[in-house]
Amino acid sequence: MKNDIFAIAIDGPASSGKSTIAKSISKKLGILYVDTGAMYRAVALFCIRKGISTTDEDAVNSVLDEIDMDIETIDGIQHIILNGEDVSDKIRTQEVGQGASDVAVFFNVRERLVEIQRNIAKEESVVMDGRDIGTNVLKDAQYKIYLTASLEERASRRYAEYVAAGENFTLEEVKAQLAIRDKNDMEREHNPLTKAEGALEIDSTNMSIEEVENAILDYVQK
Ligand code: C5P
Repeated sequence: MKNDIFAIAIDGPASSGKSTIAKSISKKLGILYVDTGAMYRAVALFCIRKGISTTDEDAVNSVLDEIDMDIETIDGIQHIILNGEDVSDKIRTQEVGQGASDVAVFFNVRERLVEIQRNIAKEESVVMDGRDIGTNVLKDAQYKIYLTASLEERASRRYAEYVAAGENFTLEEVKAQLAIRDKNDMEREHNPLTKAEGALEIDSTNMSIEEVENAILDYVQK
């Protein structure tokens, strides 16, 4: 890392509010926001479109060289470009989210994406969110946050997003999907989701976005 730049690593389970908070913090501090989950989602979208099972490691590995990924920031919002196409909206489905969780288990996928993530953080200050940012991608990050919320709260947040996006799942189904994702993310062999040593843990179950934001800004500015 260059001397004059810094990194804020935010990790936590699905729908704990990481991206909402990371986006607003990055805006307040005037630094880049990097959503690493979007990269795993883009790999999953590529595989789904190709008719490749996201749980088939050999098949996923065999197409990794065909994937070219770029991150562009337009008006402070991250756009993910997959082989020249802006897929930022197309990766936000339940199917792609589950596919992302599947491909994220594979070593080669992680190695490829972690390299891109580290290269971005070498160039400028970032708020980066994901599952393994504080524990692996940016182990030397000056600030580390582990953001959680109860399964019930996360399910109701995700359910509201699905309703807005026109996806038809019941709250119970969303809760079950999140429980599977948690298990996948926390129990996988390579870089599972855990709280980084020394990270500030925030349980956002009963907190407003503003309260979480302030807690993080206090921590960063101290
Ligand atoms: O955060 P989001 O739900 O978009 O991430 C999709 C999936 O990508 C996660 O469920 C997780 O399995 C994987 N992921 C990861 N490491 C990261 C970011 C996301 O394994 N740094």
